[in-house]
Amino acid sequence: MKEIILCKYGEIVLKGANKRYFEDMLGRQLRQKAKACGNFDIYRAQSTVYIEPLDDSADIDAMMDAARKVFGIVAVCRAAMCEKDMDSILATVKAYIPPYLEGKRTFKVESKRADKLFPLDSIEISRAAGGAILESCPRMRVDVHNPDVTVKVEVRDTAAYVHPGPVKGAGGMPVGSAGRGLLLLSGGIDSPVAGYMMAKRGLKIEAIHFESFPYTSELARDKVLRLAQIVSEYNCEDMLVHVVSLTKVQEELVKHCNEDYFTLLLRRYMMAIADKVAQKFKCGALITGESLGQVASQTTEALGVTNPMATLPVFRPCIGMDKEEIVEISRKIGTFETSIEPYEDCCTVFTPRHPRTRPDLGKVMAEEQKLPFDELVEEAIAGMYRVVVRPDGYEVQQR
Ligand code: ATP
Ligand code: MG
Repeated sequence: MKEIILCKYGEIVLKGANKRYFEDMLGRQLRQKAKACGNFDIYRAQSTVYIEPLDDSADIDAMMDAARKVFGIVAVCRAAMCEKDMDSILATVKAYIPPYLEGKRTFKVESKRADKLFPLDSIEISRAAGGAILESCPRMRVDVHNPDVTVKVEVRDTAAYVHPGPVKGAGGMPVGSAGRGLLLLSGGIDSPVAGYMMAKRGLKIEAIHFESFPYTSELARDKVLRLAQIVSEYNCEDMLVHVVSLTKVQEELVKHCNEDYFTLLLRRYMMAIADKVAQKFKCGALITGESLGQVASQTTEALGVTNPMATLPVFRPCIGMDKEEIVEISRKIGTFETSIEPYEDCCTVFTPRHPRTRPDLGKVMAEEQKLPFDELVEEAIAGMYRVVVRPDGYEVQQR
């Protein structure tokens, strides 16, 4: 019996004339993922991508997991494939489905007949397949309203497919279909979640990380890069992380500016630098993990002071979420355990004792003018180096 993976896509189906563009992108990304899972043939027909194992090297479990991380796919089915005749279909149902019914009591069969020339209609196919299941598993009962398992029989153009229902895919849009975004990536919980959420809407993610060596450590940077590794699994290709040192900026702020404004001033530098780096690397938007009211620098007024430093749109997918909700996503995507490792961040060194929660832009700018802003920004960018991150590791490229 031959197994195959069927991937169904969601919103792409509605894309009209652009559907092909999205489908091609999805195909490329699945092929990229398949490289690590063995030898598969990947093709598409009837708004479905077929992932067919070609030999024993093909690891179907690994490919299922990989396909479930590709945005644009709403459902993934592991199915048995057979000839398009009722004898083969019923034999396949009897051989393939019983293990999936272990520990379950009720089922129903739903059939789809894409090939309208097939002699039986979908109701007749379901009835016959249901009978076959009852023969091989006599303790099972049919429940058409609320079954434990819904068995599917799909009669398509070249073959028939039998499976115990789909598992959920990642949803969203293919990565890259919405252009590129530069994620301000810290070692916290929120920013990896923000990156994941925007990748889900089709942005290919690049990241920028600010460090403040020696006030922040090599270990703190390593933690951020390990988080980037996890996010890169959803990015479909290698992910670039640009690392920028804010040591000099912070030392100058401490020497010359009012302590109450440190964090806000630092965040204005971050936004200005990120905006310039984004433009240099052709990213069309910035992404942050900010959430309204979470800390002093994320009040409406504080965001009003830092936001104007960006010329590009700033996407803040966590802005309306509670911490609990953000934590739930970070657990789901696998970043939580790394995020809670206790390392310092450049935002947590030199923190003011009395940060301004309702800052006045005029006062902030007066503090900022005590330093040569543009010069410090250019100097920080000139010292930037980059790290190429992939799910299984990272490589520091220039220093
Ligand atoms: P936490 O879960 O601790 O809140 P966080 O990543 O949200 O982590 P915040 O201090 O709330 O940290 O920072 C708000 C946002 O600013 C982050 O989500 C991130 O986008 C950006 N940011 C903070 N520190 C850095 C940094 N060192 N490098 C790059 N971006 C940063
Ligand atoms: Mg935060």
